[in-house]
Amino acid sequence: MNGDGGTANDRAVARARAVLPGGVDSPVRAFGSVGGLPRTIASARGAYVTDVDGIEYVDLVGSWGPALLGHAHPEVVEAVREAAGRGLSFGAPTEGEAELAELVIDRLTITARRGATLRPIEKMRFVSTGTEATMTAIRLARGATGRDLLIKFAGHYHGHSDGLLAESGSGVATLGLPGSAGVPEPIAAQTLVLPYNELDAVRLAFAAHPGRIAAIITEAAGANAGILTPRPGFNAALTALAHEEGALLILDEVLTGFRVGPAGWWGVENIHNNAEPWAPDLFTFGKVIGGGMPLAGLGGRAELMDLLAPLGPVYQAGTLSGNPLAVAAGIATLRLADAAAYHRVDVAAERVSDAVDAALAAAGVPHVISYAGSLFSTAFRAEPVRDYDDARAQDAFRYPPFFHALLDAGVAPPPSVFEAWFLSAAHDDAALSRIEEALPAAAEAAARATPAA
Ligand code: PLP
Repeated sequence: MNGDGGTANDRAVARARAVLPGGVDSPVRAFGSVGGLPRTIASARGAYVTDVDGIEYVDLVGSWGPALLGHAHPEVVEAVREAAGRGLSFGAPTEGEAELAELVIDRLTITARRGATLRPIEKMRFVSTGTEATMTAIRLARGATGRDLLIKFAGHYHGHSDGLLAESGSGVATLGLPGSAGVPEPIAAQTLVLPYNELDAVRLAFAAHPGRIAAIITEAAGANAGILTPRPGFNAALTALAHEEGALLILDEVLTGFRVGPAGWWGVENIHNNAEPWAPDLFTFGKVIGGGMPLAGLGGRAELMDLLAPLGPVYQAGTLSGNPLAVAAGIATLRLADAAAYHRVDVAAERVSDAVDAALAAAGVPHVISYAGSLFSTAFRAEPVRDYDDARAQDAFRYPPFFHALLDAGVAPPPSVFEAWFLSAAHDDAALSRIEEALPAAAEAAARATPAA
């Protein structure tokens, strides 16, 4: 592809590849694991994205999570426009930051089944990316405990900071990498990577490093190596174990928070089941909380959060942290994300996952669909997927032809078998019907696929 002629997208990709590594600012966008050229997007509205050739796709990526309400929701766009009219960034406090913190705290104040009121977040700190949120939560946990080591789970992704890339999900999984070059060994050695959903491995790690583990960080539900649903009771037991050992539990809800329900995956576990209520020490959020703008945050009990500068000794700062446009988008999004919106997302996700299941079954393709609320993913294997090893042990070669058949039919699923599919409240009957119509041919393409020689 020399970019001399062809389509507007051909030219856009060639132009970008000349000046941006891989033509992108984030690796999975490059279509490396599915082949072909990424579509260069010109605009998006509701359930659709439109590329530079004017071709419209039903979008199942949703900006990798933020677009819960669909793209460019008029009230969110208006909130941003209105905020922009008052100035883009002040480097000083704004009223919106406190309003957004209050909204988050209220949403995370729940009545659990046994009548207990849980209010695990008393204070928030806003940052610009999920990476910063988890990085700061880990620094805070180390500062609070005076310990160094961190437990993370294989296949979980917590952003791209140095200590968190070992056996990571998302793009690291998509590209089949063990981690990243450029991470000094002494830093990587501070992270203990354990198999997901196995409490015994966690117990052994605490026994092997007594008094040295500051925190466990876990995705509330694994969603970056396909969906890795936590076993029932796993998160609660993990929290109890951390506390017994004097460590903190960081629940990473960057992807699941405000997406799988009003109080994220933690809310799903605590509101909708009969088990003993539990709460992590720190939550991290991103994606939906910023409604498509660069906003993320962390929250927890006041005594912990107040260890952050300027009150405490744990330093954290950001020129654009709590940016007023991003905060305005976040407030508008959370206000619009009501029970009816979540219901629409749930219904849409069920319809699409059912259709994927039916099409693959009809084509005789071994597959299993994993769920975390409205998030789902398909693995090309017959057995359930519990951890990263399971996720990797699948006929991943079936995904590229499946993906491209859908793309050719005007449906854009995530360009990696390791990513979740994201529905929105804007996926209406017309959008869902287009997906349903495209799936049988895509499943046939998956059935015909053979492993690369
Ligand atoms: N944590 C989780 C669970 C994520 O899914 C992601 C991004 O996909 C991050 C952290 C990092 O967020 P960001 O890409 O905003 O840095």
